Amino acid sequence: MDAMMMDYPLTLKVITDRIQRLFADVEIVTRRPDRSLRRGTWGEAMKRAHQLAEALQRAGLNKGDRVATFCWNHQQHLEAYYGAPLSGGVVHTLNLRLHADDVAYIANHAKDRFVIVDDVLWPLFDKFRARVPFEKIIVVSHTGKPVPEGTIDYEEFLATATGDFTPPAFAESDALGMCYTSGTTGQPKGVVYSHRSTVLHSFSLGIEGPGVKLGDTILAVVPMFHANAWGLPMGCGMFGAKLVLPGPFLDPPSVLDLMEKERVTMAAGVPTIWLGIVETLDKDPAKYKLRPGTRMLVGGSAAPESLIRAMDRHGLTLIHAWGMTETSPLGSVAYVDPSMDDWTPDQKYALRAKQGRPAPMVEIRAVDDAGREVPWDGKTFGELHVRGAWIASGYYNAPETAAGGAAPRWARDGWFMTGDVVTIDRGGMIEITDRSKDVIKSGGEWISSVALENALMGHPAVKEAAVIAVAHPKWAERPLACVVVKEGQQVTPAELDAFLSTKFAKFWLPEAYDFIEAVPRTSVGKFQKTALRARYRDYAWPAK
Ligand code: AMP
Repeated sequence: MDAMMMDYPLTLKVITDRIQRLFADVEIVTRRPDRSLRRGTWGEAMKRAHQLAEALQRAGLNKGDRVATFCWNHQQHLEAYYGAPLSGGVVHTLNLRLHADDVAYIANHAKDRFVIVDDVLWPLFDKFRARVPFEKIIVVSHTGKPVPEGTIDYEEFLATATGDFTPPAFAESDALGMCYTSGTTGQPKGVVYSHRSTVLHSFSLGIEGPGVKLGDTILAVVPMFHANAWGLPMGCGMFGAKLVLPGPFLDPPSVLDLMEKERVTMAAGVPTIWLGIVETLDKDPAKYKLRPGTRMLVGGSAAPESLIRAMDRHGLTLIHAWGMTETSPLGSVAYVDPSMDDWTPDQKYALRAKQGRPAPMVEIRAVDDAGREVPWDGKTFGELHVRGAWIASGYYNAPETAAGGAAPRWARDGWFMTGDVVTIDRGGMIEITDRSKDVIKSGGEWISSVALENALMGHPAVKEAAVIAVAHPKWAERPLACVVVKEGQQVTPAELDAFLSTKFAKFWLPEAYDFIEAVPRTSVGKFQKTALRARYRDYAWPAK
């Protein structure tokens, strides 16, 4: 029997129509580079996104052509998120924190035809623009100054639209967006999102955990070039949430000021950003009047339990999610459900520090070195594999990464191999122990660098900690802890050993501690362990 349901294509129109009909008056607030606030609405942004789409078509953009962005988080960037696909093109967010050589590589690899760039980022853009054959450079002038020779002002570009424009018909499988992985090993890889995956992923942001909804005010601290700002630009549109965009200001006082002024109900960012927020709040807890219970969505790297507890002390609720550029990015979310009402607070904190259960329409498994699926017993390690409605099926133009290729990232049965080492418990709760390349193998036993780091960051004197494997003559590898001490505090290796030994077996304790000024960061604000490993390559272990 055939079903009798409407054929309703899942394309961007589902979201744009809804915004225009229902949420046109909901606000979008941007902090401009001069720190003033620009107040717009979703209705205005949609109108301008359609103008941009028409202007792009008039300028010769064809179906599937890439429009790159090199921008901070702001309304015009949001307009590009919608406008490029509405023209039939593909929005490709470039990571402005990467080295110019990498951005040039990525833009060339993606075959970006047009680019939208912030005037305040021109010096960075100038470092690579000659190496990419952009056909049109559209400059968003935040400063009001004339745009550079040979480029076109974003507002003038919009003004080339007549208003007589209907977006082309899309297929669900048409490309809509593109984002390259940060590529800590090898070249960055391009992920290509479809209309369908984007609509379904946007819908997923309404699930328990992030729970994006009408009436929310959501601050996207996560850059729009980091895994699509975790889907918030589209997800907030679908559910009608007010969106707050911080522009170039991601320092704790600026973020806290926006949270206070705009009465933010949810903010999204990586743990290193939230560690800075907690440090600032600890110094003067009464300074900012934040909305009690504000959800602080965190992902990108593991959130230490101590961070979750610290947020609670300040009346903020940290929500821990896991994802990847390849997973659009929402993969799993940790949250306490009503069946856990009788759990102790410690049990609840421990659960919230895990990466959570897979989102609906995302399937998981963990696989050992021999390619066998490991049991969901919460103990056995394996590499996390995922598949689902918004998981990439391949990288753009990188055949070596396909199943059976020289450097495969997909299993022969189609699952995506994440490179994260995890345990999964009976209830499907994922706990990440490491990135596979960060795992420490000491005398044949695995030691979780993430577990050690998270525990160390629970010590009152420790601001940041990163644990890496360093070659060892007897044990093959041993953990070295690189520790940043809080301002005005002191701590000794013996004290840290004593602190850790209540939680871990003796052989897990770091072989040595090195006290450093700061942990190096990646382009999206994670701890950069590759840089640390390079720094300590020839490390001589102190005699014990
Ligand atoms: P990216 O594509 O840059 O977002 O990087 C994805 C990687 O970040 C994942 O494969 C994980 O290694 C890491 N990651 C993301 N979220 C978490 C999390 N909640 N806990 C631990 N690692 C995470």
